Amino acid sequence: MSAIQSRIIAQCDNYSARNYHPLPIVIAEGEGVWVWDTDGRRYLDCLSAYSALNQGHRHPRIIGALVEQAGRVTLTSRAFHNDRMGPFLEKLCHVAGMDMALPMNTGVEAVETAVKLVRKWGYTTKGVRDGQAEIIVCSNNFHGRTTTAISASSEPAYRDGFGPFTPGFVKVPFGDADAIRAAVTPDTVAVLIEPIQGEGGIVIPPDGYLAEVRRICDEAQVLLALDEIQTGLGRTGRLFCYQHYESDAEPDVLIVGKALGGGVYPVSAVLAARDLLGLFQPGDHGSTFGGNPLAAAVGEAALDVILDEALADRSRMLGDHLMRQLRAINSTRVAEIRGRGLFVGVEIRPEAGPARHYCERLMDLGVLVKETREQVIRIAPPLVITTEEIDWMVAQFRAVL
Ligand SMILES: *Cc1c(COP(=O)(O)O)cnc(C)c1O
Repeated sequence: MSAIQSRIIAQCDNYSARNYHPLPIVIAEGEGVWVWDTDGRRYLDCLSAYSALNQGHRHPRIIGALVEQAGRVTLTSRAFHNDRMGPFLEKLCHVAGMDMALPMNTGVEAVETAVKLVRKWGYTTKGVRDGQAEIIVCSNNFHGRTTTAISASSEPAYRDGFGPFTPGFVKVPFGDADAIRAAVTPDTVAVLIEPIQGEGGIVIPPDGYLAEVRRICDEAQVLLALDEIQTGLGRTGRLFCYQHYESDAEPDVLIVGKALGGGVYPVSAVLAARDLLGLFQPGDHGSTFGGNPLAAAVGEAALDVILDEALADRSRMLGDHLMRQLRAINSTRVAEIRGRGLFVGVEIRPEAGPARHYCERLMDLGVLVKETREQVIRIAPPLVITTEEIDWMVAQFRAVL
């Protein structure tokens, strides 16, 4: 590592709260699937900011929309209308097959919005006893870092020292539909679920799980809320991950974020039918930056790129290729390779050491990945990656594994 990088890392260690444990690299530039450190060394970004960079770094159409809008107006406050939010939300609703959307900024704010929405529906429509609404969530989930989101979490590292917690979450094992059926009570308003657990280690539920959860929700008059912040917008080889199950797993509430901001700006949203999102009245909820014209311009361009470049199809085809190539490495250090589209987990056997060790070695070879949980390397490159770039990435994995 150069003196410049050491100095910058020391500066961050001194002035930044240590709520992350980054790899020792200092990125200075990015374009497409590649980033460069302060010494000009090039790396393939296979994390994509946790799938916020599905369109790649600095996609020209998205940067173009950002710059163009920055030259007109950036923030108006929701006290007035702006000329960009309507077109953006119409497109988003059309793409998602939903009636209405509520725009926020970060993913966890959209999760919070969804929690408020399903509770409000419970009290006003289902007739749940006041203050008693329950939301069923899965252990090993990740829905963000606010006090309410960690209240839904089962992960000690996310929770320890941060109580008291928001009540009203009931936790069941992921992938077990019977456990959900058993947990439903007359006060249950929603099941909140990730179609594939990303931070949890790329955990894919058994076939038929989501469709069964959908059936349980229908029978019990419970809403199905899907957190597709990481799995949505093309990442898993469909526009939304639930579409792997055709029409059998359609959510009542769809939560999106990350790639909706095209890797340049935080944009998130909650989508639902009119009889749900129509429950919000003026004053119920809000966000200073939610739906601002810069976010709307960026979000619209981010969607256009995903659709026009058919990134979901690309993810499906290249993901199959990537998994075939990775499995062909046949390393005894690997316990399992699993994934959907370009959303792949390589689980390292415990006796072969922690995944972070492999991430550090891969970084030395020019591939940026990061462990999630102790033993899983998550591979999630920008969806604009080429077959040749994947083959190069796999060669580095072969060297390290
Ligand atoms: C990243 C993520 C969030 C939180 O999004 P932020 O933008 O970091 O607040 C919530 N749910 C899932 C599934 C995520 O991957």
